[in-house]
Amino acid sequence: MTSLSLKEIFSSIQGEGMHIGQRQIFVRLAGCNLRCAYCDTDFIPTQRCRIETEPGTGRFDEVDNPWAGERVRQLVADWVARQPRLHRALVLTGGEPLLQAGVLQDWLEGLDGLLPVHLETNGTLPIEAERLRPWIDFYSIDLKLFSVTGELTPWRAHEDFLRACSGRPAQVKLVVSAEMDVDELRRAARLAARHMPDAPLILQPVTVDGRPNVAGTRLLRWQELLSAEHPDCRVIPQVHPLLAVC
Ligand code: SF4
Repeated sequence: MTSLSLKEIFSSIQGEGMHIGQRQIFVRLAGCNLRCAYCDTDFIPTQRCRIETEPGTGRFDEVDNPWAGERVRQLVADWVARQPRLHRALVLTGGEPLLQAGVLQDWLEGLDGLLPVHLETNGTLPIEAERLRPWIDFYSIDLKLFSVTGELTPWRAHEDFLRACSGRPAQVKLVVSAEMDVDELRRAARLAARHMPDAPLILQPVTVDGRPNVAGTRLLRWQELLSAEHPDCRVIPQVHPLLAVC
């Protein structure tokens, strides 16, 4: 097995979407194929990565990168063994984890059911998603809309991705800002409802200085509009910045 290019590994609560508050182990992988205007994540591959010294302490060691897959597995297994009932999932996040799908395929095969595996993805690499499908227990799929990312919305890739994950446990997430184009929101909701009607559609206001940066009344209005397109539209801001945790 080859190595995983990491940014960090840590234990924290899930701060987004329908699993908010669950304790999870996060493996943040390096690299991303998009450049969203609101991005607050350092995803550039580097020769060093951060590993939390003890799960949940927020203290990190800086160590050489990349890591052999077996070394990552051992770390996760150690954290699980210490507190077997604490962590509910292992989260592959980024960046865009699917950029390392080849290495992840081998790695996930060797995890052997250590924890349920959740994938946080920008929903643009459907072929890679197909490849990992047997090992992913839950998908958190972002649809990246032009009026908030500043990049052309990859509609075709998003549609292929949703089709590839159809029928699997998932949520579809739209990060929204005050300047949203409502027609674009509607189109995204229709797309999600067509291919993944059982996956909740999450409206997540962009976070600025640790707080949601869209008025609550506007979010409720959008939820009303999108309820005509999607059966389960929810408004859920990020919570981990409020607690000042990773
Ligand atoms: S997909 Fe995610 S990690 Fe990549 S640029 Fe957009 S927000 Fe940042």
